[in-house]
Amino acid sequence: MIIEMKRGTDPENIRAVVEKAKLLGLEVQINSGTERIVIALLGPDTGDIDQGSFEVFEGVEQVLRIQKPYKLASRDFKMQNTIVKVGDIEIGANKLVVIAGPCSVEPDKEITLACARNAKENGAQFLRGGAFKPRTSPFAFQGLKEGGLKILAEARDKTGLLIVTEVVSENDVQLVADYADILQIGARNMQNYRLLDAVGKAKKPVLLKRGLSATVEEWLQAADYILRSNDEPNVILCNRGIRAFDNSTRFVYDVGILPVLRQLTHLPIITDPSHAAGKFQYVPDYAKMAVAGGTDGLIIEIHPNPKEALSDGAQSLTFSDFSRLSKELKNIAAAVGRSI
Ligand code: PEP
Ligand code: MN
Repeated sequence: MIIEMKRGTDPENIRAVVEKAKLLGLEVQINSGTERIVIALLGPDTGDIDQGSFEVFEGVEQVLRIQKPYKLASRDFKMQNTIVKVGDIEIGANKLVVIAGPCSVEPDKEITLACARNAKENGAQFLRGGAFKPRTSPFAFQGLKEGGLKILAEARDKTGLLIVTEVVSENDVQLVADYADILQIGARNMQNYRLLDAVGKAKKPVLLKRGLSATVEEWLQAADYILRSNDEPNVILCNRGIRAFDNSTRFVYDVGILPVLRQLTHLPIITDPSHAAGKFQYVPDYAKMAVAGGTDGLIIEIHPNPKEALSDGAQSLTFSDFSRLSKELKNIAAAVGRSI
């Protein structure tokens, strides 16, 4: 249920509503937007609460039920687009953000440092590399763990790029949060609710990938797990391809979901063409489609020598391909009124 307060209402009136909600055992989140202040009342039984019991409070404009299963991620709770600020970088603003790096941080740290330099030269704002890798096979390279985080931190010191890296277990959230600027939740963990709770409590920005077979409703409810622990919305959605019957690409590229998400949620959206395509040949066109379709940014795997990469080499761009793509994207962004 959401309670929309009258414009310019006395803070005392807001406090009174919040107090009443807490007496009823409900969780409360406040969106103090520029247009209106909205109070979300959250709990398992909000459907049983009489709207009239809140309509009588002073300063209340209207009381509405959010019909969607996701609440905090929905446009009903927050109308204006969210901009997630990470350091000086704004995600969801007119300028698109670019996140680039190797799939895994590899034992040869020069690989990650070279990726960071290339990403920086081509205008990226973030370096991404996996230190904890959720691999489908237990026999595949599982990442360097804290050693990898240290390499990422060194790359940040040397280039000024901010760091995005994945966390795969609730036990590692604090460790990864000590190094990362954005915590990535991978597709395989989108419905790991304990992990979502834990990253929410870390109070850092979170890049939440869509689960391999998750519906948009499930994805946005996963976002709610993180949003409930934070006063400011700090979730960035990441579409990365979904599983369907066709196997001509690694996943089916769900770029068509961009305008749908725009309508349903205020959260910013980053697109991952690399994991959708699975093959480097398709990545540039996929990236261009996302920019034309209104994404707020891209996350792209690059590697100095993709054939030798310890993971996802087949979909990694070489430095020269990434440079070319970065230049080509500028015209497409401009055509849709954005910059990159
Ligand atoms: C990754 O980002 O390298 C990764 C494992 O991605 P996803 O979770 O989308 O499969
Ligand atoms: Mn990868």
